[in-house]
Amino acid sequence: GNGFKIIGCHTDSPHLKVKPMSKREGSGYVQLGVECYGGGLWHTWFDRDLGISGRVLVRVVDPETQQEKIEQHLIRISKPIARVSTLAIHLETAEERGAFKVNKENHMTPVIGTKTLLEAAAAKQLNEIGGDYDDDSWKKGQEPALLRLIASELGIETKQIANFELGLFDTQPASVGGMKDEFLNSARLDNLATVFVSLEALVDYTKSDDVAEDDMISLIACFDHEEIGSNSAQGAGSPVMAEAVSRISSALSENTNARDPEVHSSAVRQSFILSVDQAHAIHPNYSHKHEKNHGPQINAGVVIKTNQNQRYATNCVTAFIIRELARKGEKIPIQEFVVRNDCPCGTTIGPILSANTGIRTVDLGMPQWSMHSCREVMGIADLTHGANLMKSFFKHFNEVDNTVEG
Ligand code: ZN
Repeated sequence: GNGFKIIGCHTDSPHLKVKPMSKREGSGYVQLGVECYGGGLWHTWFDRDLGISGRVLVRVVDPETQQEKIEQHLIRISKPIARVSTLAIHLETAEERGAFKVNKENHMTPVIGTKTLLEAAAAKQLNEIGGDYDDDSWKKGQEPALLRLIASELGIETKQIANFELGLFDTQPASVGGMKDEFLNSARLDNLATVFVSLEALVDYTKSDDVAEDDMISLIACFDHEEIGSNSAQGAGSPVMAEAVSRISSALSENTNARDPEVHSSAVRQSFILSVDQAHAIHPNYSHKHEKNHGPQINAGVVIKTNQNQRYATNCVTAFIIRELARKGEKIPIQEFVVRNDCPCGTTIGPILSANTGIRTVDLGMPQWSMHSCREVMGIADLTHGANLMKSFFKHFNEVDNTVEG
């Protein structure tokens, strides 16, 4: 029945995902069918050096039992095999140049090779991809060159590939920018930056003496599918979080045979969730887009996000608790964000988790620019501020008066 200290974040970012039938023929080039995942700033995906990564289901035969089973392998091809090219300015009308519009179906199909590769692949295709599974219509819809690349990367034969979930990514590594090294330029800061600081804080806490004295459970939960609304079996909208609290509580309670609903309810009442996701720093060239008293600055601290229409889960009590944790931690500046009344507001896993579990929640984040671009930017100092606040949560939450109802 003891409480849980939970940091919730999401792992996904908008990107291009390979379609179930990846093969694209007829253009004279080898192309890859892709689907736009999430709300990306898609124009930023043009003219990038794109690699491919994800997971592959592989058929293997157990040498002892001769039974076939399926293994999941992670794959990351960092060589820039794919590219979505812009149309030359000379071929655009003045109107098209000004509009900077992207048709997500027609304009974003990456090229992965030239016709020579295509012809060679077609000649080899039949005997190579078929094998024992030549009735596999899924496999016939795949680009053979892609299947061969995956197979060689994993050290398997193409006929062993049963399915895959692949996405494109920018192969350019992250860099430190600005005159004084103040900025971190990188893909996927939303939301891997907060996954990183949360994990750092948890690892740090497990090494400290405080953890032995702590009667609360500290955990972080990293969800997929936030960018598309969190409604999936592994998203924040699933029963996973509530089940985790319930099952951990009953596993640790004295009467482990009976799942006592009172134990679960008591744990929920004493628990707290930090929903940590990146925040919007005020953009100097678009400052009119911000409410002028709530414009977070880069490298000026962690942002508490508030929205009275509950697009963020923060309330009067949960925001207070964060300011207390910041005060008790290592010099953690706090900034406040609300969106302008005449502007739509983003949302996070915060309201979903708190509604699903009944656990009080606050929405926080480190400020950044270019959210949902292929290349985002945040402040280096804010990584430290974020990590320090997460550490203060695990270390000091038990000391904060947590008895006022939300
Ligand atoms: Zn996010």
